[in-house]
Amino acid sequence: MEYIDAKKIVMSTGHLNWDYLAHEYVMNIYRGCSHGCIYCYARSNYYEKTDNFNCVRVKKDALQIIRDDLRRKVKTGVVMVGSASDSYCPEERELKLTRNTLELINAFDFGMSVITKSSLVTRDTDIMLDIKEHSPVSINFTITCSDDEACRKIEPFATPTSGRFKAIEHLAKNGITTGVLMDPVIPYITDTEENVREMVKKAKYYGAEYIYISTQVTMADVQRDYFFQEAEKNYPGISEKYKEKYKNYYYCRSPRGRKLWNAFVETCEKEGINYNMRVANQKIRRGYGISAI
Ligand code: SF4
Repeated sequence: MEYIDAKKIVMSTGHLNWDYLAHEYVMNIYRGCSHGCIYCYARSNYYEKTDNFNCVRVKKDALQIIRDDLRRKVKTGVVMVGSASDSYCPEERELKLTRNTLELINAFDFGMSVITKSSLVTRDTDIMLDIKEHSPVSINFTITCSDDEACRKIEPFATPTSGRFKAIEHLAKNGITTGVLMDPVIPYITDTEENVREMVKKAKYYGAEYIYISTQVTMADVQRDYFFQEAEKNYPGISEKYKEKYKNYYYCRSPRGRKLWNAFVETCEKEGINYNMRVANQKIRRGYGISAI
């Protein structure tokens, strides 16, 4: 395992985004990610300047730095555990740095939120339940396609779609708030109404409290190169389609965006699952003394 230097790990966001997952602080213990998602924005130079993003590195003395960062904060709040890497990457199984971080978050009375593509997150249900006693907790699974076959092509080393839904079921049955982030919907690959409708139905069936959708993917520098290289293996001709349609645009919006949104809203309303993130944030924070809307 390669270690990298860090002076500070828990950063203040400076504002709360009620239209996504509201959190006061953000942190990344790991740099890089071995899940290999072909569209990963964290691979771009805007986020993590690293030669080999697929190789996970650990911040040296991470737990001591996190402890000191939390101790110095004047106000408690919700910490987003991992934003430019997956805190439940395969390496976490042995290293347990995320688990130990949750213990610190609990000890210092902070709340937590996580976005992951790994069922390993269920290992830490016990600590999440402890945190929930005093602060908000939400576990969010990015799931971009409803079937495992497509998932293997675009997120090759993450827990398959079916395993992520099972993890939602486990957490929901244990009283932990879970949500599904269908983000990104990838133009010309996963942007079908059928996929959107199936995703909403499964989110509801397995116990997610809310679902979010983004019908676009972002593309920048090395991220774009990696996407073309990997997507071509299973979707020949896709890079030409993108070059023609999106040139060098950062936001690549699905040409079916409006139809997808309509299908999404219609299915959410039919199934009775929340898709309003303001309402989701309100529910997550209700009853706790911090930063209610
Ligand atoms: S899990 Fe997240 S950080 Fe890891 S490769 Fe996939 S998109 Fe990137």
